[in-house]
Amino acid sequence: MSCLRWHNRSRMTGEEGACGVCGTAAKLRCGGCSNVHYCCRDHQRKHWALHREECRPIKQVENPQEGRYLVASRDLAAGQLVLNESPVVCGPTGTCIPLCLGCHSAITDLESCRCPGCFWPMCSPECHQKDLHVKECGILAQDVKQIGPPTSLDVTPRYDMILVLRCLLLREANPTSWNRLMTMESHVDARREQQEPYHMAGVRFLTEVLKCGFDADTVHRVRGIMITNCINIRGPKGEHLRGIYPNIALLNHSCLPNLTIRSDVNNVLYIRTAVAIKKGDPLVFSYTPPEEPLWERQFDFRNVYFFSCKCRRCGDPTELGTHYSSPRCPKCPDKFLEPRDGVDAPWKCPECEEKRESQDIRDEAERHIKDMDERYSSTSEVESFLTGITRTFHDSHYVWVTAAQASLRMLKNDTSLAALKLQQEIWRRLMGIYQLFEPGLTRRRGVSLFQLSMVETRVAQTQRAEGELTTPAYVAALTRILRQLEYAAKILELEPSNSTESHWKARAGEKAAAISEAIAILQQNSDSQQEDAEDVGRLHKEN
Ligand SMILES: [Zn+2]
Ligand SMILES: [Zn+2]
Ligand SMILES: [Zn+2]
Ligand SMILES: [Zn+2]
Ligand SMILES: [Zn+2]
Ligand SMILES: [Zn+2]
Repeated sequence: MSCLRWHNRSRMTGEEGACGVCGTAAKLRCGGCSNVHYCCRDHQRKHWALHREECRPIKQVENPQEGRYLVASRDLAAGQLVLNESPVVCGPTGTCIPLCLGCHSAITDLESCRCPGCFWPMCSPECHQKDLHVKECGILAQDVKQIGPPTSLDVTPRYDMILVLRCLLLREANPTSWNRLMTMESHVDARREQQEPYHMAGVRFLTEVLKCGFDADTVHRVRGIMITNCINIRGPKGEHLRGIYPNIALLNHSCLPNLTIRSDVNNVLYIRTAVAIKKGDPLVFSYTPPEEPLWERQFDFRNVYFFSCKCRRCGDPTELGTHYSSPRCPKCPDKFLEPRDGVDAPWKCPECEEKRESQDIRDEAERHIKDMDERYSSTSEVESFLTGITRTFHDSHYVWVTAAQASLRMLKNDTSLAALKLQQEIWRRLMGIYQLFEPGLTRRRGVSLFQLSMVETRVAQTQRAEGELTTPAYVAALTRILRQLEYAAKILELEPSNSTESHWKARAGEKAAAISEAIAILQQNSDSQQEDAEDVGRLHKEN
């Protein structure tokens, strides 16, 4: 390795630390991550083989308001990997359909295979012997009255305490991870006071029914740690799971994230920058799905994470001009009722005296979502369905977004030019909204751009077939779509290779190659046509 490279990767700092190799006082720090000190260049060079894997451009900082969190240790470009981590524990989400405790696959028949030790349903006889289940099986088996195991294939909260139990078992099985877990935030006092029914039921079940060997205080705390820090993930077959990732848990929240999370089939999470990030800026992702309306996000911040979000989106009563959670003012044509005094106070029109109770605002939006049906078949019906919604909400409101997604499903098999053009319009509008709340190189952006490109290709093909496009205009349209598709492929390239989402990057690549070939053929044909025309011209002259 050249010295020049090392020179770039290290810098002198005023703060001293212990050398990562020999432990003596050291002023030099790794320039990549700023997290390791060195006494001399030679020790830094020696350490690189070990440190390379963990050298990430992140730095942990601490302040009294926000506790410990991660910032960029240097300027970062969009798309850069900042952190990857395997879970210390992983298991089913709080409410889920019955899952096999050995492999997490969905149970399709409750009675055909039960674990002989604990009576919980399994997908196959091999699964109850899997490492993941063996230790917890002994404890679950103490539930002799079988209060815990699910009794139907419906969604159930019975799996909630499985991940808590798996966390508790770390004390014996993996003391390093246990100690790390115990340094994590639990909000245990607030949770005790809150007396949230699932929390209380879980603690009672673990301490009274299972007699898991932990006192109630520890179980309260561990469930608190689990709920505060777990990250929802998807298993290889789309199963809803959650895991604890101690480093990723240090990332702060924003409803306008600058990071994206991708996962592979082994539940390893890969955190990349979605946008360029300046050195020292906090690295943030969204703890709640960004497509949730204001009241749902705020409910989670208050009751699950115990903080109030101060992000730019939550601080703006118009949610960046989208009126994403607001209904129209019934009196002023272009005004919306806004949560000017907080989400729970009456929402008010900024223009007139009109106001409405917060609960009514939620009920109205939820009623629209609940009553939404997907029975429209013609383009004009879908169009008037969407227009109908804009009479009550802005066309960036989350009810509109939900209706737009439903419209795309309804129009999927309609190949008329009108239907294709409507799909194109909906995709463009949706992408604008997605980009506002999840800016940058996200999977959602990659997939939406891919879908939009597919629709636009069909629009161009249909227009060409109907004689609406000349060859040069058709080539120009395809070339523009190709650039867009190549950009989508570049974003989807960021999916981990052993991820269930990696098919997207293959599809985008294939479609881009097909369009590129089509353009080449069209150009070749038009070149030879032009040559023919020139030949004819020459002949005329000669004659
Ligand atoms: Zn040293
Ligand atoms: Zn480093
Ligand atoms: Zn299984
Ligand atoms: Zn068992
Ligand atoms: Zn926010
Ligand atoms: Zn008004």
